[in-house]
Amino acid sequence: MPATPILIIGQGLAGTALAWRLWERGVPFVIVDRDEAVTCSKVAAGLITPITGMRLTVSWRYAMFYREALRFYRRCGQRLGQRCFFPRGYVRLLKNEAEIAKWHKRRRDPDMQPFLHPQPPELDAEVIHEPANGFQQRHAAWLDTPTYLQTSRDFFATLGTWTQADVQPADVRDDAAGVEWNGQRFSHVIWAQGWSAEKHPLLHWVPFQSARGTVLTVEADMRGEQRVLNRGCWLLPHPDGTLRAGSTYEWKFDGPHTPAADQVAQLEANLRSLLKVPATVTGMQTAVRPIIKNQQALMGTHPAHPRVAFLNGLGSKGSLRSPWLAKHLIEHLLDGTALDPELDLQRNGI
Ligand SMILES: Cc1cc2nc3c(=O)[nH]c(=O)nc-3n(C[C@H](O)[C@H](O)[C@H](O)COP(=O)(O)OP(=O)(O)OC[C@H]3O[C@@H](n4cnc5c(N)ncnc54)[C@H](O)[C@@H]3O)c2cc1C
Repeated sequence: MPATPILIIGQGLAGTALAWRLWERGVPFVIVDRDEAVTCSKVAAGLITPITGMRLTVSWRYAMFYREALRFYRRCGQRLGQRCFFPRGYVRLLKNEAEIAKWHKRRRDPDMQPFLHPQPPELDAEVIHEPANGFQQRHAAWLDTPTYLQTSRDFFATLGTWTQADVQPADVRDDAAGVEWNGQRFSHVIWAQGWSAEKHPLLHWVPFQSARGTVLTVEADMRGEQRVLNRGCWLLPHPDGTLRAGSTYEWKFDGPHTPAADQVAQLEANLRSLLKVPATVTGMQTAVRPIIKNQQALMGTHPAHPRVAFLNGLGSKGSLRSPWLAKHLIEHLLDGTALDPELDLQRNGI
């Protein structure tokens, strides 16, 4: 166990999971965050969904990530005295004949079986347009991301390990033995700074393909429906009585927080083709998802700077994957465990 602490830069889903992993092992750390009002993790809807996308495939290594996420967030909830992880019903409605045909082909595949609910969804036809032709998923969940981030931050602040600062890469000096920042020595620095890493001078070669995304806040009378619904867009009933609807993917964008009007209009149109009851959009949040080429998270140390580590590329799966990914990186740094070749920055980044 290192006597010197580890420096984590960024308190999004990646940095928060890293901090908890270190705390669980009793390893000292400092976590630093810019404390921006709007970040990707703060905007995230927190959905954890096994069968996704137009191709109706089971998300990569879902069972492994989900098992770890379930245990991790339950433990966090117990420590924080605040539950933040909730299993949720999830109904996927099929859009058109092509999707229905695909579904009939895929529904018997062995990898789908653990995630298919045996009962049909039985939706209220007064609330939902075309409620037939859908299926319910099992092992879906919702992470209350803002609560998880804020209560974790408060916990770390009470320990004296959370600091607000905009860390400049030039101010973090590393050598073979460790890292120095703000007059303090660390064994490693882990950059977990989301899409801002695109501008990091040591990491400019990582093939980011980040995408801006928007989530709407919506008011509609769902007549008690509590499941997540998805056709063309997803709709999440929120405990505060409102709904979240999303999300857009903008692969070309300028600023991080102002969405393109046509993307928002398309999202609203998708929402109206899903909901039969009147819906009012009362808010909107936009941020950039850190995506790396091939939609793969990457981690590890910099090839020429062994004390400089990296965890990024959580894409649209940060809630699901960050607990397992953070554990894997910490075991690599502290125990010398080999990284999964598919996630190893040094094998896949260039
Ligand atoms: C619209 C939208 C909807 C989404 N919905 C979901 C969903 O339903 N489910 C899901 O799992 N995921 C969802 N995501 C994706 C999820 O948000 C990301 O996977 C996740 O937030 C990425 O976390 P991160 O910690 O890597 O990055 P970030 O959240 O960007 O965190 C990085 C942190 O580092 C800080 N930082 C950066 N540079 C510095 C610096 N130099 N010094 C100090 N601090 C710094 C930033 O301020 C920030 O707090 C969604 C994303 C968007 C945009």
